[in-house]
Amino acid sequence: SLKGKTAVITGSNSGIGLGVAEELARAGADIVINSFTDREEDHALAGALAARHGVNVRYIAADMSRGDDCRRLITEAGACDILVNNAGIQHVAGIDDFPVDKWNAILAINLNSAFHTTAAALPMMREKGWGRVINVASAHGLTASPYKSAYVAAKHGVVGLTKVTALECAGQGITANAICPGYVLTPLVEAQIPDQMKKHGMDRETVIKQVMLERQPSREFATVQQIGGTAVFLASDAAAQITGTTISVDGGWTAL
Ligand code: NAD
Repeated sequence: SLKGKTAVITGSNSGIGLGVAEELARAGADIVINSFTDREEDHALAGALAARHGVNVRYIAADMSRGDDCRRLITEAGACDILVNNAGIQHVAGIDDFPVDKWNAILAINLNSAFHTTAAALPMMREKGWGRVINVASAHGLTASPYKSAYVAAKHGVVGLTKVTALECAGQGITANAICPGYVLTPLVEAQIPDQMKKHGMDRETVIKQVMLERQPSREFATVQQIGGTAVFLASDAAAQITGTTISVDGGWTAL
């Protein structure tokens, strides 16, 4: 059980982050969820999660594109035994006309934020002699696709940062690992299905298997629950000697 531990999950008011928060809460951890918005519904998410699992849950608004906000998130959390760097965005364009502002935003949110939160959290973990840094990278942290230069560069960077974090914390009860999901069925991905069906004139099953999951040999999406379960495993004692590495949850994508 993760009772008594506090987990901070960046970018967790939807999708994978929320799924990870749910599974860590189910395992008994107190939770801090986050995004850059500060709406009633964000705080309501925290209340619902707390009620479902009988743990403390807070929502803290902080913009992961800003280094000072990343560090404030950890300070305001007050405790951070399990840090899950999950916030991320995507933009698809060729290198020659990749918008510079998109490049900068992707590097800031997908990579730099993990540097800032980790820098703020490690002293707290060292004080307790226990900690888990779990970075949500991607199959694109290990392989590439055209037109995703910023995302692929950022995610490869996250994998590199994960290894350095592991080395600097080795023997201190603190591990750092990256989860590398393939295609995960999040609300964002779900919303693309009707468009893809129309565009290709295919039914739901066919467009998922033939078009969307073309690179995922299992031809099945991973689920946010499975990513959450992987995070729970990495936080467990069974994973205490797993550090500086990646765990792919990608239906075989990176085996191809
Ligand atoms: P999502 O859009 O549902 O979630 C992204 C989260 O990040 C949201 O909660 C959003 O509010 C938050 N966010 C965005 N910008 C932010 C900012 N500036 N500050 C704070 N929070 C911010 O997408 P998702 O699919 O759940 O993605 C989560 C992570 O998983 C990302 O790092 C993504 O690259 C990675 N990932 C997703 C997939 C997939 O197939 N869905 C595959 C591999 C990796």
